[in-house]
Amino acid sequence: MSFSRASALENKDGVFHVKHQDPEIVVVGGGHAGCEAAHAAARLGAAVKLVTLTRDGIGAMSCNPAIGGLGKGHLVREIDALDGVMGRAADAAGIQFRLLNRRKGPAVQGPRAQSDRQLYKAFVHKELSSIPNITIIEGEVVDLTVTRGRVTGAVLSDGSVLSADALVLTTGTFLGGVIHIGERQIVGGRMGEKASHRLSRRLRDLGLSIGRLKTGTPPRLHRTTIDWGSLELQPGDDTPEMFSFLSLNPVARQVSCAITHTNEATHDVIRANLSRSAMYGGMIEGAGPRYCPSIEDKVVRFAEKPSHQIFLEPEGLTSDQVYPNGISTSLPEAVQEAYVRTIRGLERAEIVQPGYAIEYDYIDPRALTQDLELKSLPGLYLAGQINGTTGYEEAAAQGLVAGLAAAASRSGRDRMVFSRRTSYIGVLIDDLILRGVTEPYRMFTSRAEFRLSLRADNADQRLTPAGILTGCVGAERKAAFEAKMAKLTDARDQLSSLEWTPSTLIAAGIPVSADGGRKSAFALLSYPEIDLETLRPLSPELGSIDAEAARQIERDAMYANYIARQERDVLAMVRDEALTIPPNIDYSAISGLSAELIAKLSHVRPPSVGHASRMEGMTPAALTAIVVRLRQLTRMSA
Ligand code: FAD
Repeated sequence: MSFSRASALENKDGVFHVKHQDPEIVVVGGGHAGCEAAHAAARLGAAVKLVTLTRDGIGAMSCNPAIGGLGKGHLVREIDALDGVMGRAADAAGIQFRLLNRRKGPAVQGPRAQSDRQLYKAFVHKELSSIPNITIIEGEVVDLTVTRGRVTGAVLSDGSVLSADALVLTTGTFLGGVIHIGERQIVGGRMGEKASHRLSRRLRDLGLSIGRLKTGTPPRLHRTTIDWGSLELQPGDDTPEMFSFLSLNPVARQVSCAITHTNEATHDVIRANLSRSAMYGGMIEGAGPRYCPSIEDKVVRFAEKPSHQIFLEPEGLTSDQVYPNGISTSLPEAVQEAYVRTIRGLERAEIVQPGYAIEYDYIDPRALTQDLELKSLPGLYLAGQINGTTGYEEAAAQGLVAGLAAAASRSGRDRMVFSRRTSYIGVLIDDLILRGVTEPYRMFTSRAEFRLSLRADNADQRLTPAGILTGCVGAERKAAFEAKMAKLTDARDQLSSLEWTPSTLIAAGIPVSADGGRKSAFALLSYPEIDLETLRPLSPELGSIDAEAARQIERDAMYANYIARQERDVLAMVRDEALTIPPNIDYSAISGLSAELIAKLSHVRPPSVGHASRMEGMTPAALTAIVVRLRQLTRMSA
């Protein structure tokens, strides 16, 4: 894919105007956030320098070899809708595709794919290398240059300086990274890779609010030492759901995973060695992800459960490593081997890389704007794990936001605004900058109030039009999207024009009320028990409707009534959001606010009542007090 850089001169009414200058952006880090940020900024015409510790680490999956899942799959579809990399990379590298929650409604279904790590990395590398306005630089950023309060460049460990209009920092788990395996501690950003300490110190010196978090990974097993014959195999779906709206079918060979379980003997080994776990031995101060617990955590917190499920996931088609999903740990290596060998199918399993926990610095994301730019240091954008999130998809989504914003802010282009009403990306940004984090943040469908309309299947309809307007969507996707929308419109028109009386419908065995009026095929599809197949005997014309468009309309129709109600809620929220709060408002002058809320509001300075309403600890009474004060201020200034 290639993108032309925006022209510097525009001929308008015979006059040459300077249109906008292509900005220079430095992206630090080649993980999921960094790659997406670089690609997004390049799509807007920026000249991008991507600096990363190792070229080979570009697009690396630090932990599990999989993309997507519940909530996370939605993020990938949204990134794809805006022409990002992750969806296409996951499709190119996918060796097993499964739609999670297939039996539940489309709103909570999440596409997921097992990935071949090498294929994934190769795709991302090729994609970035093929874009002329991205230059990849292998090196360590150790310092930032700041001119008149604005970040203007990065200093590398060899002393060279890269000047930039804006800088996107996506250093993942590398800032102040310490690896823990039992009592052993190794300084590193990921197993076998060095940590980033000088930059961490510099960020502290710049006065940023920095905390510590932790996450863990399981031991990797040698494929040929697993007794696959004794285990239940789990194949992928018969009809794989791709991530990208541009992909049709998997390209890599498809494989199965296997399922096994821990047992009482496993738990006994773990219980007997708890004090030697870095998590439990008091060696780690940072908080870990509660919803993605280590096996030590599971054994202690769910003591009543006699076993826990483990998915044995191949790391790739040519790899001999297997990822046992469900047993991340920071126990000593010998203990890891002892408990692994109590598990069915793993009695002779060999560990090729021990499991470990990693503790790292993160920056309080409440210091960021909606564009992920630091309020106190303009020109510096942060994205990914550095903001307290966990997961490839959350990182990539932030990279996209920061890359687009950094490029747009210096070129005079329209900004892309992400709202929680229209995207999971908006939910993620809103949650981070307003609520902050107390543990690594990951996306769930339950975080989205408007999840009935924020479905994975309609991410393109929600976001691609705005992407076309702001210029981040390329010609190929634009053409594909417009063709799809034309088919959808045709199908909708056809379905709306076909109508039947209740008596015809009842005679055909379709359950409708006898005293209602004529019903169109489109209206009937909103009934949960009616789909296109049910209606087909009523009219041969239904057979001519494009099959994919028909499936999409069925999904839209299923939620149509609920969404109408949801839209009323959205309107109420929009009214709140429209009420802006002056940045210099004195919260201590508002009676009825607790000291804690005054401190929080004065720190966060939400730009609107809508934003204030979603802050942690906010109460309806406090919101009313703020709204009353805003009305007073408006009257006073009238
Ligand atoms: P990363 O993918 O970490 O990339 C950081 C990039 O920054 C690297 O390319 C590095 O080379 C570069 N870099 C760092 N410092 C510098 C510097 N000073 N100069 C230049 N380049 C620099 N996620 C889950 O969802 N579930 C899990 O269970 C889970 N477990 C994990 C366990 C471990 C041990 C680790 C390490 C990660 C785990 N993750 C997990 C997290 C997941 O890997 C990250 O969320 C994701 O990779 C973050 O993406 P990122 O782009 O922010 O950072």
